[in-house]
Amino acid sequence: MQKLKGIAAAPGISVGKALKVGREEFVIPKQPISPQDIPLQIQLFEEALIQTRKEIIQLQKRISVEMGQEEAQIFDAHLLVLEDRMLIEEVISRLKKELVCVPYIFSEVLKKYITVFSKIEDEYLKERTADVNDVGKRILSNLLGKKRTALEDLKEKVIIVAHDLSPSDTAAMHKQNVCAFVTDIGGKTSHTAIMAKSLEIPAVVGLEGVTSRINSNDMLIVDGSMGIVIIDPDEETLVAYQEELEKFKGVSQKFLSVKDLPAVTLDNRSVEIVANIELPDEVPAVKLHGGKGIGLYRTEFFYMNRKGLPSEEEHFQAYKYVAEEMNPYPVILRTLDLGGDKFLSQFEMPKEMQAFLGWRAIRFCLAQPEIFKTQLRAILRASVYGNLKLMYPMISGIEELKQANRMLEEVKEELRKSGVPFNNDIDVGVMIEVPSAAMTADLLATEADFFSIGTNDLIQYSLAVDRTNEKVAYLYEPTHPAVLRMIRNIIESAHDEEIWVGMCGEMASEPSLVLLLMGLGIDELSVPPFAIPEVKYIIRLVTQDTAEQISKEALRLSTGKEVEEFTMRRLKEILK
Ligand code: PEP
Ligand code: MG
Repeated sequence: MQKLKGIAAAPGISVGKALKVGREEFVIPKQPISPQDIPLQIQLFEEALIQTRKEIIQLQKRISVEMGQEEAQIFDAHLLVLEDRMLIEEVISRLKKELVCVPYIFSEVLKKYITVFSKIEDEYLKERTADVNDVGKRILSNLLGKKRTALEDLKEKVIIVAHDLSPSDTAAMHKQNVCAFVTDIGGKTSHTAIMAKSLEIPAVVGLEGVTSRINSNDMLIVDGSMGIVIIDPDEETLVAYQEELEKFKGVSQKFLSVKDLPAVTLDNRSVEIVANIELPDEVPAVKLHGGKGIGLYRTEFFYMNRKGLPSEEEHFQAYKYVAEEMNPYPVILRTLDLGGDKFLSQFEMPKEMQAFLGWRAIRFCLAQPEIFKTQLRAILRASVYGNLKLMYPMISGIEELKQANRMLEEVKEELRKSGVPFNNDIDVGVMIEVPSAAMTADLLATEADFFSIGTNDLIQYSLAVDRTNEKVAYLYEPTHPAVLRMIRNIIESAHDEEIWVGMCGEMASEPSLVLLLMGLGIDELSVPPFAIPEVKYIIRLVTQDTAEQISKEALRLSTGKEVEEFTMRRLKEILK
């Protein structure tokens, strides 16, 4: 048994078998076949061998020209592996006996060969392990149609273990079959972690070197609430975690009991508790958890996992669906926020040294008016089907806001000319997630209908801590006095101009910070759907006066650690 500590990225507990996913690893489903399928499976295998042979010969020719005859000779050994009768016969006989698809059987036989070769004393034969591995991977990729099986194709329940998962990988995960995941890298607010919360999959990230410690099929416990992963748990630990899981379910049930009650304090100060979503199909989860609106719809996920950009009609249909489903509650569509750790495979974005400080979000949109205007047109068209609002990400100053609004006006004018109906008074908000926006919130407030504080980015930019880097995760403090002062300033500036201000960064769902934010006067908290009941539960336990005392005391403290300890202690007292 081994216990590892990482960063708690999404709460919950899962027990299950590991499935390692890496660049050259393949997810191979163990698919049963019927006896009639055998000839077809053998044919698939033979075709994969022929195709692999062709590829190796081609490669050998190229290497011979580019690097010389001697280098090309290494491929002779690869070709010999392809002709290894023992290997071929073993695959065919196991296929007939076990009645499981050929990629799975082949990968099992390959594993056995590699283990045997790597144990041989003879140096020459030992080196052949690499050849067998290499050719084996080629055959496998041909058997699987050259693609790594996508995560959405998983046929059995697994815990994914990966160096990292791209946001699009995570978005593609089939919720039913991924019961947790753990990664080598990443931080609490990296998009992989955010997606895990949306999918309600327990996750631990930033577990440096975890992929070299865990093998596929290892038994794991993932405690996403505490950031703990246990490899090969003993019986006693399994029982203890089973009890933890029951406790977790019990507490979640208690929170759920208030899901449809309003979020008001004992003295009737109310706050809007709404949800963050990444995809339209999360709408049912929002309703299930009592969400009365969507405070952040991260529309960029719509651009992922697809060939080409979405058309205006596709945008329109998606936004219309969300608007209608949530009507009369508000839905805040955040315009495309590409860049940073969210990127598109099909769109050639330049690799940047500092992606988070580079060509992203509103900067990208203003430079690509066609892409931006397509989305704006669709939002405006959908605005007549519900209570839609829009907001821009990453605004760094008033000029950028004005520029974006000018494009919005151009689109409105085009629609007017073509007689297309839209809500001319649609509210336009600004995400406050860049320190320069936080410091000029008073100016921005004169041009915006509302603010939403994006703490995920605001913290990383203010404290100079990359939100996805586990090595500096200890410095990523929502409770840092600098962050708290900025939030106070943003809220005061917004209220001075009589506009409302919400928060849609992950900080909004930190149970111990909810009261602090209430005390500072926040008007809306937008959180992952699963967190709605808990946030409501906490708010309903206190008076606004208590919340203000908590925020005043917290703002007097001088370190993030002190604020964290203080707010935790107060929350525990209140929950008692
Ligand atoms: C944020 O930065 O806090 C935010 C909500 O936006 P995102 O996490 O999508 O960057
Ligand atoms: Mg952001």
